[in-house]
Amino acid sequence: MCQFATGFHLAINERRPACPAYSRVDADMTDTQIFPKLEIPETIAAGPGPGNTDARVLASFANSGLADHMQADVLRGMVECKLMLRQLWGTDNLHTFGVAGTGFSGLDVMFNAILPGDRVVAFTNGTFSGLDGLAIRMKAATAQELAAEPLNPQAASVTVIEIPHGTSIDAATIEAALATHAPKWAFMAHWETGSGRTNDVRGFSDACEKHDVMGMVDAVSSLGVADFRIDDYPGIVAWASCPQKGVCCLPLTYAPVSFADRYIEALKAGGARSYVHHPLLEARHWGIVDGKDVEAGSYHRTHSGYAVAAFHEALRITLQHTVARRARDYAFHEKVLRQAVTAMGCEVTSDMTSLVVLNLPGDFAGREKELVQTCRAQGFGIWPTLSEPVQVRIGILNLLTPAAITDIVNRFAQAMRGLGAKVDQSAIDAVLARHYRSAIAAE
Ligand SMILES: *Cc1c(COP(=O)(O)O)cnc(C)c1O
Repeated sequence: MCQFATGFHLAINERRPACPAYSRVDADMTDTQIFPKLEIPETIAAGPGPGNTDARVLASFANSGLADHMQADVLRGMVECKLMLRQLWGTDNLHTFGVAGTGFSGLDVMFNAILPGDRVVAFTNGTFSGLDGLAIRMKAATAQELAAEPLNPQAASVTVIEIPHGTSIDAATIEAALATHAPKWAFMAHWETGSGRTNDVRGFSDACEKHDVMGMVDAVSSLGVADFRIDDYPGIVAWASCPQKGVCCLPLTYAPVSFADRYIEALKAGGARSYVHHPLLEARHWGIVDGKDVEAGSYHRTHSGYAVAAFHEALRITLQHTVARRARDYAFHEKVLRQAVTAMGCEVTSDMTSLVVLNLPGDFAGREKELVQTCRAQGFGIWPTLSEPVQVRIGILNLLTPAAITDIVNRFAQAMRGLGAKVDQSAIDAVLARHYRSAIAAE
């Protein structure tokens, strides 16, 4: 097809060769490039996230009427979401709301209280906390530090404590670092999805309290999966999560955040260098104004009624299921998946309940990406790790049924056989039967 087919293009490309198609009556068919309608297949989202979105969430998105962001039911929906979010997080924090976008959007709002020169200790143990550490260095860097290395500033006021991939961050490490550095802020991920490790959030909160440090936590992977109440962790003043993992609302909606009064006071004193991602200004649209809940929010930026309806339904589903029940279901099914892949000769190095991170049997080490690519090409969406070492990650977000886990196990076994592994199906079937016989009988 000739790419210079329109009069406009010919005019500005006069010296280009004439295009024979231009003389045809249907020349306009060739001018702007319109692709066939985009069809995205249904895949099994068996990775670290996004999780499988409930049909009720998608129906709410699609069936909501067109309404602007100040229409009464949209505003009421946002206020109700705010109230449900407080229950989901287990908090009385007034400043609990959603930030339009993904996990990093909520994290950015949280990190916006960090100002250039602020002293921060950031604990990292994998891809995501590593990126959070980068975001923190970008906020805390002085103008000179940022200019010296704009995409990777080395901020002298930030201490990054790097814990190796595959290792959890423990209380002793946190305690020692906070005692030594006495920062204003400390940061850690609750669950590090890159390496599949859970970190000691109790030890983190206690050390923050003891050393009068304000703790910030990336709870992107744990909210809606783990059974925890943030008000049980008084040393942690700021939390941020995402829509599409434990809350299962991939029609990208809102990243839940929650800020304690101490964080808000620090923010009021120091300000933040953002209008759109300012925690106090963003909160207004959710009906949190001047330290009080108000009946309806006031304009901060445009919100989508479709997104509000979808998010509202996702929160209703989560609370109906209950956080405690979800946490038990994740733990139960993760154990089955873990035992099944262990029966295939894999070594599991993670301790999250929504994700299994594993090493292939020795003979197949180095072929992780090949295995993952083969699975993905067949609509079985597992993942490799994104930073070294290369491992395989299989997630079960919202895949909490014997049928779903059995399918994942059998597909993974098939892929292993494709690599040339000898996988004993009867051993796998025995694991599945042992855990699921009564569950299947009850269905
Ligand atoms: C997924 C993830 C993120 C990034 O979230 P996005 O929604 O991709 O922006 C950050 N931190 C952790 C711990 C995660 O698991």
